[in-house]
Amino acid sequence: CYNFCAGPAALPQAVLEQARDELLDWHGAGLSIMEMSHRSAEIVGIAERAEATLRELMGIGDEYAVLFLQGGASTQFAAVPLNLLGENGTADYVNTGQWSKKAIAEGKRFGSVNVAASSEDTNFTTIPPRDTWKLSADAAYLHYTPNETIGGVEYFWVPEATAPLVVDMSSTILSRPINVADYGVIYAGAQKNIGPAGLTLVIVRRDLLGRAVSQCPAMLNWKTAADNDSMYNTPPTYALYLAGLVFEWLKAQGGLEAIGAINRRKAEKLYAAIDNSAFYANPVEVPSRSLMNVPFTLADDSLDKVFLAEAEQAGLLNLKGHRSVGGMRASIYNAVGEDAVDALIAFMQDFEQRNG
Ligand code: PLP
Repeated sequence: CYNFCAGPAALPQAVLEQARDELLDWHGAGLSIMEMSHRSAEIVGIAERAEATLRELMGIGDEYAVLFLQGGASTQFAAVPLNLLGENGTADYVNTGQWSKKAIAEGKRFGSVNVAASSEDTNFTTIPPRDTWKLSADAAYLHYTPNETIGGVEYFWVPEATAPLVVDMSSTILSRPINVADYGVIYAGAQKNIGPAGLTLVIVRRDLLGRAVSQCPAMLNWKTAADNDSMYNTPPTYALYLAGLVFEWLKAQGGLEAIGAINRRKAEKLYAAIDNSAFYANPVEVPSRSLMNVPFTLADDSLDKVFLAEAEQAGLLNLKGHRSVGGMRASIYNAVGEDAVDALIAFMQDFEQRNG
C-alpha cells in the first residue's frame, strides 16, 4: 500500500524494518529502547547522534540550539509568544491558512498580534506579496507558515524583515535544503518528515533564549530545554530514536539536495497530471503550490466517495481532503516514493477514463 496521509505520515520502510529488528534487544543491551533510562549512556548517545545528524543534514550552526520537545507544533503556538514577546510586546503574523490562524489565535492570548497580511480573500490559495505586508516598527518577531498543510500553499522565498523570522515548518522541514541562518526560530511537529507523532523540534538562535516572560511554564521555556539538553523531564525517547533513524536514512538518500530533487519531480508530475485534465483541479496559484501537500478536486464531487473507495482498493490510502476544504489531498512527504506518485497518477487517469 501507499500512504498519502498528511500526518502522522508514511515512514521509510527501511526505518520501520530496522526498528522492528531492534525492538526487543537494542544492540545487545538486553533491553528495548523503550525500557531504558533517559539518563543512560544509550539514550544520551541516541539523542546526541540524532542532533548531530540533523545539524549535518540542515547545516545548523553552533549559534542555534536544537531542542527535542513534546506537545506538537500546537504547543509551540503558545511557546513562541511566551518566549519572545516580553511583557507588552507586539508580534507580526501572516495569515495564509488554517495553521497560521491557529498560531495567531494562540498568540493573541499572550500579547498584541498584528496580522500583517492575509490571503483569506482568495480562500487561502495565494500568498500575499511581500510588498503588501504591513509590518509593525517594533515587532518582537514575524511569524509565518512556510507550508500550509491543509491548503497546499508553500513559500519558495524568504521574506525580508528586521524582526527575527519565526516559522512553523511542520510540513516542509527536511523536504529540501533551506538556509537556517535566515530564521530566528524554526519549529515543527515530527509526524511528517521527522518521525512519529509526539516529538516536537525547535531550532532556536541562541541570542533569542532567555527572553521568556516570568509566567512561562518551565516545560515551555526554550532556555530550560537548552540548558538541560532537552532532558529537563523525560523526553519521548522512542520517538527520538526513530527520528534519529529517519535522519540517518535521509543522509543515506544523499541528504536534502537529493531528496529535494526527488520531491520536486514527484510534485511536478502530479500537478502536471492534474493540470492536463479537465476532470481534476488544484486551486492554488502556480508559484505557491506545495511540494508536500497536493489538494485536488474532481469536476463532479458526487464521485468523491467512489474515487476514495476505489483508490483504497488499489492500495492508495488516505487521500481524503481535510474536512475544512473537502475533495482530495495527496501528501507526498519524503517517505512517499516516486513509485507511489506514479501509481496515484495511473489510478487517476484510469478513473477519469471510466468516469469522465
Ligand atoms: N502546523 C502545521 C503546518 C501542521 O501541518 C500541523 C499538523 O498537521 C500543526 C501545525 C499541528 O501540529 P501538532 O499536531 O504537532 O500540534
